[in-house]
Amino acid sequence: MSSLPFAAIDTELFPEGYWPGRQRWLAELGGGMRSFSYPCPGSGPEGEALFTDTVWIGPEDAARVVVLIGGTHGVEGFAGSAIETDALRLLAGGQVVLPADTATLMVHALTPWGYAWLRRCDADGVDLNRNVVDFSGPLPENAGYEALKPALLLSDAQQRKLAFAEFEQAHGRVALEKAISGGQYCDPGGPFFGGLAPAHGRLVVEDLIRKYSLQQRDLAVIDLHTGLGSFGYGEIICDHQPGSPAAKVAHDWYGDSVTLPFLGTSSSVPKLGLLDYAWHAIMNERSCYITLEFGTYRTDQLFEVLLRDHLLWARPGNDLTRREHSRSMRRHFCPDDQAWKEIVLFRARQVISQALRGISA
Ligand SMILES: [Zn+2]
Repeated sequence: MSSLPFAAIDTELFPEGYWPGRQRWLAELGGGMRSFSYPCPGSGPEGEALFTDTVWIGPEDAARVVVLIGGTHGVEGFAGSAIETDALRLLAGGQVVLPADTATLMVHALTPWGYAWLRRCDADGVDLNRNVVDFSGPLPENAGYEALKPALLLSDAQQRKLAFAEFEQAHGRVALEKAISGGQYCDPGGPFFGGLAPAHGRLVVEDLIRKYSLQQRDLAVIDLHTGLGSFGYGEIICDHQPGSPAAKVAHDWYGDSVTLPFLGTSSSVPKLGLLDYAWHAIMNERSCYITLEFGTYRTDQLFEVLLRDHLLWARPGNDLTRREHSRSMRRHFCPDDQAWKEIVLFRARQVISQALRGISA
């Protein structure tokens, strides 16, 4: 791997929905690849079955693995499908070549229910990226969420904004964002709910780790997300501890654009129960996990569209409002904007190339 692949960028790779995205991803798989599909409970709006599909490309006994994960947050899977399909094509076309002793593992739609229904969570309202906590002990508490909860449920957006502004004035912006999005384990109908048991996506990850003995290999995990940060920019968020070997690895591979929530340099605040933690637990000192987060619209808009989502799903009824709202969800997490899609694919190629180069250096 010497440089960035410059094959034409094809924004048509952003699919119409979960099922076409899955079909196109599957169609790119070639012979000699080990693929495995995990059925997910529930079904899509058209009654379609749901799967998390995975594929291993490269030597079975590779000492190093670049892992791409899409759709950890269901509706963010549009970008995940496009990026992974693009990577599959580049590999098939020889524009990207896996270095010696290196494999790639791709995971398509880790939360397929949310992808199909244009929601960020799973069918139980669980945010997979807050789900990796020890459910056998006392669950983490988020006092800020408890304090803000009455305001979160207000249906009047103006009143809600006022309550948020008061909280921010009293406790600061970071405290406000942690209260809303840091994760909570007390309100199943609310946003950023971490669940009460391991969710489908976590079980899939744990199974993949066992199946491929990933704890015995060097790992570069890239978890693909959208919806937070500057429009189009793919931020490399590293939730490892500052000063840890993994944080150093991330910097060595990806350079100065790496941000750390624990240092306050990221558009993301520190969070509870991240999917990262399932991987951190098995990683050696030559590995790291990053979230590649593509920004769309402002964080206030993100909170607004998500709160509305939870309010609407808590009170089923008006189909027209629900349909209109689904369009807003899709627009927030996958803007209908040609330039945004181009930047996403371009930046993803860059970061995947950095991972391949870094892990094999
Ligand atoms: Zn996300």
